[in-house]
Amino acid sequence: MSESQQLWAHATPGSVVKLHVVSLSGGKDSTATALMAIELHGREACRFVFADTGNEHEATYAYALEYLPQALDITVDVVKADFSEEFATKRANLARIAAGEPESAVYGKRKFQYAWTPTAAAHALGLLHPTGNPFLDLCMLKGGFPSRRRQFCTEHLKRNPLTEFQLGLVEMGHQVESWQGVRADESEARRWLPQYELLGGGMAIYRPILRWNVGDVFEAHRAAGILPNPLYRQGMSRVGCMPCINCGKAELTAIARRFPEHIERIGEWERLVQSVCRPESPATFFHSQKNGAAGVTAAVQWARTSRGGRQFSLLTDLDEPTACSSAYGLCE
Ligand code: SF4
Repeated sequence: MSESQQLWAHATPGSVVKLHVVSLSGGKDSTATALMAIELHGREACRFVFADTGNEHEATYAYALEYLPQALDITVDVVKADFSEEFATKRANLARIAAGEPESAVYGKRKFQYAWTPTAAAHALGLLHPTGNPFLDLCMLKGGFPSRRRQFCTEHLKRNPLTEFQLGLVEMGHQVESWQGVRADESEARRWLPQYELLGGGMAIYRPILRWNVGDVFEAHRAAGILPNPLYRQGMSRVGCMPCINCGKAELTAIARRFPEHIERIGEWERLVQSVCRPESPATFFHSQKNGAAGVTAAVQWARTSRGGRQFSLLTDLDEPTACSSAYGLCE
């Protein structure tokens, strides 16, 4: 009996149907994971789900939602974060400040000064409406973009909607084994992950390709006759968001050259997010340590300098590419 079978045998009644749920990102690792799930358990025992961040490349949507379903004869469910309630709460708070609520409040022995002036709150209130794009809506609510040090995007845009999807399956009476396409050699955070984790409540995590290397992953595609996401042939080392906040110089340069429309879109998002965040909090996709040459346009220029170039050295968040620091394996 395998490790996972032993764990489940102790945890669950025999009649419950176990589902192997693969979170597809459109990247090579999750595709290899899906191939293994189908090979070992068959399509009927598997579910495939894609978390739409709203910041994906069109080729990734086409690959995950059209090519893979057709090539693998599977259905891919799509989950998408919805922040309508959070918008309503934030708008109500801004409305109170705009209406002239006292500019400070006392809680216990401490006095808090509101960061918003009534004028700034009224201005933001006029612009703060959900767009339906999860990534943009999240940044508008947070008053800024995620960064390597504050990577809230994975949690809100991928982990939470995917967990909700899996809990829904548990409520329907299934055991859920969440298949994560992570490799130990991707990052320090992933190096010491266990291959199998029983979470309780009818849920477990399985990481079938934890000890694979990148060559094994592409070999799995070749052996199954499945093409990798075409973005890998176009200079992309990762195909998560376009761009991902974790991308490095070479990748950002390739994105700017091949897909300038995505850089322009991020520039528009920066203007929109800036317009609804506190005036003293500059909102830029790539952060800087000081209020200077930050933002996606400056980052693209910096990425074209050689390593160590002084001109944009303030952009310390954007250095050589790293794997996503998340241990969930939801972002490539
Ligand atoms: S870590 Fe990168 S790929 Fe993942 S949600 Fe954030 S920006 Fe997107």
